[in-house]
This record gives sequence, C-alpha cells and structure tokens, in this order.
Amino acid sequence: MQKFAASKNLFYPIDFAARGSSQIGGNIATNAGGIKVVRYGLTRDWVANLTVVTGTGDVLELGRSLVKNATGYDLKHMLIGSEGTLGFVTEATLRLTTTPVDVQVLVLAVPSLDQVMEVFAHFKAQTNLIAFEMFSEKALGYVLKSTGLPPPFPAPSAFYLVVEVEKRSSEDEAQILDVFEKCLDKGWVTDGSMSQSDEQLRSFWRYREDISESLSNYSPYKNDIAVPISKVPGFIVDLDKILAEAYPTWEVIWFGHIGDGNLHINILRPPGLTKEAFVKECQKVDNLVFSTVQKYHGSISAEHGVGLTKRSFLTYTRSPVEIEIMKGIKKIFDPQGILNPGKLFS
Ligand SMILES: Cc1cc2nc3c(=O)[nH]c(=O)nc-3n(C[C@H](O)[C@H](O)[C@H](O)COP(=O)(O)OP(=O)(O)OC[C@H]3O[C@@H](n4cnc5c(N)ncnc54)[C@H](O)[C@@H]3O)c2cc1C
Repeated sequence: MQKFAASKNLFYPIDFAARGSSQIGGNIATNAGGIKVVRYGLTRDWVANLTVVTGTGDVLELGRSLVKNATGYDLKHMLIGSEGTLGFVTEATLRLTTTPVDVQVLVLAVPSLDQVMEVFAHFKAQTNLIAFEMFSEKALGYVLKSTGLPPPFPAPSAFYLVVEVEKRSSEDEAQILDVFEKCLDKGWVTDGSMSQSDEQLRSFWRYREDISESLSNYSPYKNDIAVPISKVPGFIVDLDKILAEAYPTWEVIWFGHIGDGNLHINILRPPGLTKEAFVKECQKVDNLVFSTVQKYHGSISAEHGVGLTKRSFLTYTRSPVEIEIMKGIKKIFDPQGILNPGKLFS
C-alpha cells in the first residue's frame, strides 16, 4: 500500500515494524497504529469503505466511501479493531494523503520522564510533529550491542527520544531549531542531533526500530499497554517500583509511542531461569502490570489486540456492562460463534 501510494506521488501513513509481513485485512482487524499516530491517527482513520462477510454469510458494504453519513450507527468502525470476531474483511478502500514535504529526525537525550513530557508538549504545539518515540538507556544498550551502531552521544542519559518533524518551509526549519534550543536551555534535553541526510535519518530511526529485534534473544516478557498521555511518567515510575520490589534482579526495558500514551514494556528472561519457569512467573507479572494499568485508567492492549492471552484481563479496561454489550453485538454478527471462536472474550 505504501509503495502503491508512492507510485502515485501520494502517501499511506500507517507505518509500523510489521510493515513487511502484515496484511491490510489484519491491520484493519487490529486497528493497527504504529509510529506516526501522533500525526496521522490509526488505521481506522484511513478506511473509506469495507466489504465484509458476517458470520451469517451476509455481505455488507460499510462506509460507501462517504465522508459524511449521519444515518445511525457506524458499523464500519465497529468492524475495525474487532479482531475478526464480527466479519471477514474481503475488500477495503483506503484513503491516501499528500507526501510530507521534507522530513527531519532528531535524537535527543533527556534526563527524566517529566522532561520527556515537556519536550513532547513543545514539539507538539510548535512543529509539524510526525512521530515522538521514547526509549530507555537500557533499551539503547541492547540496540548498540546487537547492531554495532555508534552511541548517539558521548555521555549516557536515562531516556532518549527519536522525534520526526516535517519541514514545509524555512520558517518551519527555524521553528524546529527554536524548540530544540529552548529544550536545551531549559535543561530538558542534555544533548541532541538533527539528521543532515536521508542516510542519517534512517540510522537515527534504527535506535528505536531495532529495539524489539535486539531483545529477541532474551525471550522477553512483552506487553503493549496504554495510559492517558499526561499519566505516562507517573505510571512508569509506579510500575517500575512495583516490579523492582517483586523482582529486584530482573531487567525491565521501556520504550514506546509517548505521543499517544502507548508503552511497550519488555522484561528479559534472567540468566539461569528456564523458559517454562519464566513464562509461569510472568503470569504473576501480568497481574502486577494490569492492576497498575487499571489504577491509571489505561488499556491492557494499546494496539496488538486481546486475542486469547489477554481475554481474562478484559475487565481491567472494560466495564461488565460494556462487555455484555460487546457480547450482544457479537451474537448479532455471528450468532453461531464461528468467527475467531474464543478470541476477545470466552
Ligand atoms: C514486529 C511487530 C511489530 C508490530 N508493531 C505494531 C505497531 O507498532 N503498531 C501496531 O498497531 N501494531 C503493531 N503490530 C501488530 C500489528 O498491528 C498486527 O500484527 C498486524 O496489523 C496484523 O496484521 P496481520 O496481517 O499480520 O494479521 P494476523 O496476525 O494474521 O491477524 C490479526 C488478527 O486479525 C484477524 N484478521 C486477519 N485478516 C483478517 C480479515 N481479512 N478480516 C477479518 N479479520 C482478519 C485475525 O483473525 C486476527 O485476529 C506489530 C506486530 C509485529 C509482529
């Protein structure tokens, strides 16, 4: 889709690490987000029309590519993110947009989470922000070890940001520099680099995009959660403390899409612990993580869905009444329960 759009001098902005393997049907079923949500939203924002086959065999055309349609419930949006439990997507019409004019990427070193939020607020308000990604010093350490990339700065920092911005004019460029300098002056950022070429832009992105692969050898416990953006620092500090008390020797790695409150937590399997023992212990970790998510009114799944493994935790994010309504909707679309049985709720 991205390549097709580019061939027409247009742009399909949904972009994430599974871009090479995932399919549009799966993206729609999971309402995939990714790294540019802060600017372009989620998959649902780009779907104009869907053809779906429900569990009763009915073929529905949802959306009709209309921009405005005030005729009742929006069934297209109900299907998007339903994890294949309401219907098969057999055809989709997607919207495209204009290609960003000139894109620049900054890597920034930031001493604390509160300062990460200050930097975010300023870039969001004063630049054409496309992506705003955060990762911890530990995450960077594993990327450097596995890729051989040089460290971004001579001195280490507790957190790092990869920030992508669009430059449409020389005024935009001046504005980006202004915000960067203000962040340095205030001490929110202690060091930073701005990409000077496409090659440098791609290498800056690798600090963030290569994290998952760099951690894969340590068979990590992974979770993909969301909290309201303003609560990100408090949530991370709180959960870090809870996990440090329960598992003082375990390594907890944080990264995520700060611009939409979506955090990825990875805990590495400690040396000496078998995979089986680790998986068993991680079930207890799930309880600690999801209870904290619930306390912060967050979501137990930001962008990877509920599937089978998270369905017993659905009540941490959805009320019993909401779950009953969802089950009622499922019965209408799929009365015999033949579409993805057991997924989302049992
Ligand atoms: C390395 C990696 C990185 C990722 N990064 C991100 C990220 O940054 N942001 C993000 O949002 N997500 C991310 N994901 C999750 C990603 O959104 C989903 O993996 C992807 O969108 C699913 O597409 P797929 O074709 O692989 O679907 P599958 O994994 O095959 O299916 C996913 C679900 O969709 C259903 N489904 C598939 N096709 C259809 C269809 N035609 N009609 C109805 N239901 C269907 C399946 O039944 C299943 O429930 C990542 C995944 C991986 C592996």
